Amino acid sequence: MKKNIKEALTGLTASETPQGLPIPGRDMVENNAGGFVFKLDEWKRLDRFLILGSEGGTFYVSERKLTAENANHVLRLLQKDGLRVVSVTVEMLKSGRAPKPDTAIFVLALAASKGDDATRKAALAAVPTALKTGTHLLKFADTANGLRGWGRGLRNAIQLWFKERGHETLALQLVKYRQREGWSMRDLLRLAKPVPADEVQGKLFGWTAKREKAEWAKADVAPGVKALDFVWATEQAASLKLVAEKADSDEAKAILAAANVASTKKLVELIVTHRLPREALPTEALNKVEVWEALLQEMPMTAMIRNLGTMSKVGLLKPLSEAEKLVASRLTDAARLKGAKVHPIQVLSALRTYATGRGVRSSASWTVSQKVVEALDEAFELSFGAVEPAGTRHLLALDVSASMGWGEIAGVPGLTPSAASAALAVVAARTEPWTATMGFAESFRDLGLTARDRIDEATRKVSGLTFGGTDASVPMTWALANKVNVDTFVVLTDNETYAGRAHPVQALEKYRQATGIGAKLIVVGMTSSGFTIADPNDAGMLDVVGFDGATPALMAKFAKGEI
Ligand code: CA
Repeated sequence: MKKNIKEALTGLTASETPQGLPIPGRDMVENNAGGFVFKLDEWKRLDRFLILGSEGGTFYVSERKLTAENANHVLRLLQKDGLRVVSVTVEMLKSGRAPKPDTAIFVLALAASKGDDATRKAALAAVPTALKTGTHLLKFADTANGLRGWGRGLRNAIQLWFKERGHETLALQLVKYRQREGWSMRDLLRLAKPVPADEVQGKLFGWTAKREKAEWAKADVAPGVKALDFVWATEQAASLKLVAEKADSDEAKAILAAANVASTKKLVELIVTHRLPREALPTEALNKVEVWEALLQEMPMTAMIRNLGTMSKVGLLKPLSEAEKLVASRLTDAARLKGAKVHPIQVLSALRTYATGRGVRSSASWTVSQKVVEALDEAFELSFGAVEPAGTRHLLALDVSASMGWGEIAGVPGLTPSAASAALAVVAARTEPWTATMGFAESFRDLGLTARDRIDEATRKVSGLTFGGTDASVPMTWALANKVNVDTFVVLTDNETYAGRAHPVQALEKYRQATGIGAKLIVVGMTSSGFTIADPNDAGMLDVVGFDGATPALMAKFAKGEI
C-alpha cells in the first residue's frame, strides 16, 4: 500500500507520470485501454457522435455498447439543456457538417420523445425545416414511433412537413422516397392526415395516400402544373416496362428488341421533359446507356457521385467520352460542390469504390475512367471548402496502433479510423505549405505519406500499417529527440493511449520548455468516445472531430492563433 501511494505521488514532483496513472492533482478518467486521459467536453462529445456515428463500434467497444453509451450521453444532455441539444442537432442537419444525417435524426427523435415539454416542442417544430428529404422524414418517423408512439405533436409536425413543401419539391419527394425503414410516405400521410392547403397539394396527397391515378394530369389535357405533370410522367414511365429479349425465333426476338427500343425512346423523352429521377424508372431501364445519358443532364451532385460506377458499367462514363468531360468538370466545380453540400466522406467513399472498378455490395464491375478518379481526388479536397492556410510548421501525427484499424467511419465499408486519418492528413498536407507527416504507435513509424498521394491510395497505404500498442506522447518526444521544430502538433487518434512513460500533455510541456516554442496541440478525434489527450485547461490545445466538414478551417484558425 505504502509503495502504491509513493508511486502515485512521484508525479507531484516529477514532470512525468506513466499513462496508466492519472497526473496527480488532475481530474482524469481511465480510457478503454487502461490509460488515463481527459474527459472530453460533453458538448464536444455530442459533436463527435453526430459526425462520426457509432457504426462498427471501436476496437475496444462494440457497436451496440458505443451506441448505448452515446444515447445515454444524449439523454443526460437533454436533462441538462434540451434546447441546446436541439439547436446543435438542427444546425448539424442544416449545415451538412456530418457525413450522414442518420445520427442527428436519431438525436432529434430522442429530443422529441424524451426531452421536457419545451425540448419536445422545439424538436418537433424543427421537423419541417431540418428534415430535408422524404428519407429523413421516414427515418425520423420510424425512430419517434419506436420511442414515443404517435401523438398529436408528432402528427402536427409531420402534417407541417408535407404542407410546407413547395408543389414540385413535394412531388419529387413522394416519387423518390416511397419507402424507407419499413415506412412509406403513404403510411405517413394516412396517419398524419394533413389537410391540403390547395388543390394541387390535395391531388398529390391523394395520389400517394389513396393511390389515385394521375388521370387529372394527362399530357393531352395539358394542365400546365409542373408538379402534376411530373407525377403523371412517373406513372407513364412505370408502365414502360422493358422485356427480356428472349424468344424461340429470330423474328420474335427482333420484335421484342424493337419494342424495347421504342420504350427506351419514350423513357428518355419523359426523363428529359419532366426531369424524372432514376427512382421513377423501371429497374430494367437502368441498364440502358441512353437512359443514364438523359438522367445525367439534370442529375443532382450527390446522386451523380453515388452512381459513377453504374454509369461506367452501362458504358456511358468511359475514357474520352462527353460524359466523362461533364462529370469531371462538375466534380471539380467548387461552387457546385458547396451548393449541393457534398460531404468529403461521400466523395471519399465514391473514390475508394470507383477507383477499384468493382462494386462493394454487388458483383458489378466497370472500366475505370482515370479522369474521374483524378476529379474525385480533387473534389475531396474542394469539399472541405476554401481554407486559408496557417503557414505554421505542422507535424501531422497519425495514430497507427492496432486499435485504429477497427470500426467504420460514418458506416463507410472499410473506412477505418486509421484509413480516414490518412485522408485527412493528405488534405492537411496539401493545404498547409509546411508539413511533415509521421505515424506512431508505441514508437515512431515512417508512413511514406505525401501531399501528392492520391487520397484513396493514402487510405490503403495506412490501413496495412496498423500495429501494436499506443503512446500518443511519441509525436512530441520524437520531435524533441530529433530536434524537429514544430509549431502545431496535429494528432489524429482514438485517444486510447496507455503505453507511454509520460502523458502527451507532459511531453508537450517538456517540448515547449526545451525548445522555447509555444507549440500547440490539435487533437483530431476519430471515434465517438468521450476521451481526449488534450488538456481542457490549456488554451494551446484544441479538440476537433475527424471528418467534421468544418474541421480544416477551424484547425487553420487555431494554428494561426485566431481562436
Ligand atoms: Ca491504440
